[in-house]
Amino acid sequence: MGSAAEEKVMLNVRGMTCAACVARVEKSLRRVEGVKEAAVNLAAERAAVVYDPAQATVEDLLQAVRRLGYEAELPAPEAGEDAGREARQREIRRQRRNFLLSAVLSFPLLVAMVGHATGMHGGIFGLLMNGWIQLLLATPVQFLAGAQFYRDAYHNLRSGSANMSVLVAMGTSAAYFYSLAGLLAGPALGITGLYFEVSAILITLIILGKLLEALARGRTSEAIAKLMGLQARTARVIRDGREIDVPVEEVRPGEVVVVRPGERIPVDGVVLEGDSAVDESMLTGESLPVEKHPGDQVVGATVNQLGTFKFRATRVGRDTTLAQIIRVVEEAQGSKAPIQRLADRVSAYFVPTVVGIAAVTFAAWFLATGDFTRALLHMVAVLVIACPCALGLATPTAIMVGTGVGAENGILIKGGESLEAAHRLDVVVLDKTGTITKGKPEVTDVVAFADGAPVRSPFWCADVLRWAAALEKRSEHPLALAVVSAAEKAGAPVPEPESFEALPGRGVRGRVDGREVLLGNRRLMEEAGVAAAPLAAEAERLEAEGKTAMLLAVDGAPAGVIAVADTVKETSPAAIRALRAMGVRVVMMTGDNRRTAEVIARQAGIAPEDVLAEVMPEEKAGRVQELRRRGLVVGMVGDGINDAPALAAADVGMALGTGTDVAIEAADITLMAGDLRGVPAAIRLSRATMGKIRQNLFWAFIYNVLGIPVAALGLLSPVLAGAAMALSSVSVVTNSTLLKRYDPMRGLR
Ligand code: ADP
Ligand code: MG
Repeated sequence: MGSAAEEKVMLNVRGMTCAACVARVEKSLRRVEGVKEAAVNLAAERAAVVYDPAQATVEDLLQAVRRLGYEAELPAPEAGEDAGREARQREIRRQRRNFLLSAVLSFPLLVAMVGHATGMHGGIFGLLMNGWIQLLLATPVQFLAGAQFYRDAYHNLRSGSANMSVLVAMGTSAAYFYSLAGLLAGPALGITGLYFEVSAILITLIILGKLLEALARGRTSEAIAKLMGLQARTARVIRDGREIDVPVEEVRPGEVVVVRPGERIPVDGVVLEGDSAVDESMLTGESLPVEKHPGDQVVGATVNQLGTFKFRATRVGRDTTLAQIIRVVEEAQGSKAPIQRLADRVSAYFVPTVVGIAAVTFAAWFLATGDFTRALLHMVAVLVIACPCALGLATPTAIMVGTGVGAENGILIKGGESLEAAHRLDVVVLDKTGTITKGKPEVTDVVAFADGAPVRSPFWCADVLRWAAALEKRSEHPLALAVVSAAEKAGAPVPEPESFEALPGRGVRGRVDGREVLLGNRRLMEEAGVAAAPLAAEAERLEAEGKTAMLLAVDGAPAGVIAVADTVKETSPAAIRALRAMGVRVVMMTGDNRRTAEVIARQAGIAPEDVLAEVMPEEKAGRVQELRRRGLVVGMVGDGINDAPALAAADVGMALGTGTDVAIEAADITLMAGDLRGVPAAIRLSRATMGKIRQNLFWAFIYNVLGIPVAALGLLSPVLAGAAMALSSVSVVTNSTLLKRYDPMRGLR
């Protein structure tokens, strides 16, 4: 963050038709004083703007967009997506109305065209071929249903750029007014044929394309609606000793909530009494129910299965896990993948170029054949075939579907950038404790030392545990929790330390019972000048079994060794295997000693040469950067709480969610299920999404690149060009929605 204040705001922008509009809105937003960054997403109809509130107001931003002729507004608070959906529904209704009007009026013109082509001139055909009747049919199509193209083209041209509407308006107007001139003064002008059906059918087809596109777009953004549907409506809380049902918005933090079997848990909290199992699959993608006992955390939107329990609400309203997830997905769907910049840049130059080609087409045909009509029709075909709408939809629709599929599988992706970066990962660095292992270590061995030799006396061992636990009570390290709970289990009274100091990556030190106590690794002993050699032999033996050994010194003399074992998660080996099968190198990073680390690595399926051991916490980010400097694209997976700097240093930082302590903000990707299977799944999903984007861009480009010369050579009728154009937008959007069926967890469950 710079020194100047920065704020980020999302605007709803409506009325954009293609990639050229996107570039225009972005440019005009960036021109506002104080705006640092502006990114517009066409499919989501949103603009994300980073600005300095001291220099610009939201109103300035809205005005900048409105001046271009688009509708702009702040999303309604909370109901952000509802408002978006409402707008999409309105667009669908509007296009359906326009389509019906133009289809009904164009149909007789189509009949007349068929009659003309087949040489049938009698009866109804004769009537429909009457120029005045054709004028009567084509005019409402041109100026009522087609009004949107004129309006949009006008706004565009006024602000000095051109988009697909300009092309459509130019193309259809050329056909319409040429026919009108022919009808009024045909013989005088030497015009023989009328082409009202060309303009009318073109408009009908293009509106059909827009309608289908609006329908398909609605389908790409179902993920948010699904997530919002997970929210419970009411909660049963205990007030004044009575159970009452209240709307979920009225639950306050600290209140006691009762949940019965089969009910949805309304907000986040901690279980007070009762036991049950909870289905958390809707948030984590993990299908097995999770057992809940007093002290465990429960998450709003998950479903209680068996027992009745009470819990204390901790996070409500905007703070719940579900609300955070929805915000992340919303932002991600509105964000941009770097690959799209290419498409945007191309589109900005596209329309002016096409108008140039169309002019050349007209001039060349007219000069070569002297046939004004033919030259005009070929020009119209060029104008219509060249619309870059499919290009503008190729990336954002795929990003929307991809991030939605992720959310449904417990893979929360922050934005298009992370999604794109994940498909290029060469190396994934995994933190050991809590990431590969369960992070719930347990004390397995306690060895006491007297006069430099191990003593098996239980009395001495109890002292070792007591001194260690006294200090570890103050530490939050997973190792500390293990020591404290072992002491509790042993029933030894644990004294309060008189002083305490945590030494990250080394251990802890402090005064207990008037003695100077030191607990930690060899480095800590060395630094304190303790002659720990007798302890080291014992430690080595324990480490060879994959345990973490902590050395204890009391008043500068070696006093004991405590060994702790942390087990590898059942899911880790399969996930690591999947990663390697995908060609991704897997590295383990830990502050633990090399011997323990290598034993754990072997159990998890990581090669010893890929183990980075004895890495100090503050060095972790540096190690990640070192890998990146070698030209590798690096992913870092950790718990997101104490690994935040390393996650930030990586190309893609992935945090494992654990219960409600999800550090969603800390990472590019959050894996809600809290295990490593999400890592290969996220990479697969990213690869699948990028594959879709490439397909889409390829087809959109190819279509324009091939279509323009074919039309310029006069081999494409304007009506066919219109149909092809509508088809290309629809096929791009449909291709993206196909991604919905992609299962990133396949084979990993
Ligand atoms: P990891 O990378 O596995 O999370 P850390 O960097 O947190 O490990 O810690 C590295 C080593 O420092 C531990 O293996 C342990 O030997 C020692 N250590 C750190 N904190 C403590 C503590 N609270 N009590 C005892 N030992 C500790
Ligand atoms: Mg750690």
